[in-house]
Amino acid sequence: MGLGYRNFFSAPVPIGGVFPAYLPTIPSLRSIPNRQISFSAYQRRFRSRLERLHSVMQGFCHPLRGKGYLSQGNRGPTHRGRMEYAYDFSTPIGTPVYAMRSGRVIGIQEQYADVGGTKIQAQKANFVWLEHTHGIGSAYTHLQRNFGKKISIRRNDWVKAGQLIGYSGNSGWSSAPHLHVEVHRIANQSFGQTLPFSISSGCGSEKPT
Ligand SMILES: [Zn+2]
Repeated sequence: MGLGYRNFFSAPVPIGGVFPAYLPTIPSLRSIPNRQISFSAYQRRFRSRLERLHSVMQGFCHPLRGKGYLSQGNRGPTHRGRMEYAYDFSTPIGTPVYAMRSGRVIGIQEQYADVGGTKIQAQKANFVWLEHTHGIGSAYTHLQRNFGKKISIRRNDWVKAGQLIGYSGNSGWSSAPHLHVEVHRIANQSFGQTLPFSISSGCGSEKPT
């Protein structure tokens, strides 16, 4: 992508820029009559709010290239606390998953079975974890067992926005096959607080080079 590690990672987004005091909460899908809606319909509904996000938090790529239905939005039943700005997309096991922004692979877990489960299975979720600019990362969770063998993705690989990085599954704390995505601060080598973000049909401000 033509950027070295040192240049690529710029200063963290100021928290006030991401969470301006006037940014309203994006409501839970419980306030939407039909819980299974497309992500684009969801974004249209809350467009005026999403447009107020910091520019760094806009223009992500759709992780399923438009497939799937939004089954849980921000501040839904299990998207609380650290995960409050996550999204869940219901989609069959084996759906291709794409990087929402260019970045570096900093974590892969793929050994767990696609059997779903309750909260006690939370640590048995397969995932890809990417690091982007501005101190933020993205995670793609509940992936299919051994997804990495199909695409040979490895830790420390660089991926472009929109690049295939895995396949959806039903591992971990999951009541049905779906993809959980989030954008978060990277804090002490771990998943930090999630941040609100929006997805653009043009697939991102960081175009693949
Ligand atoms: Zn989720």
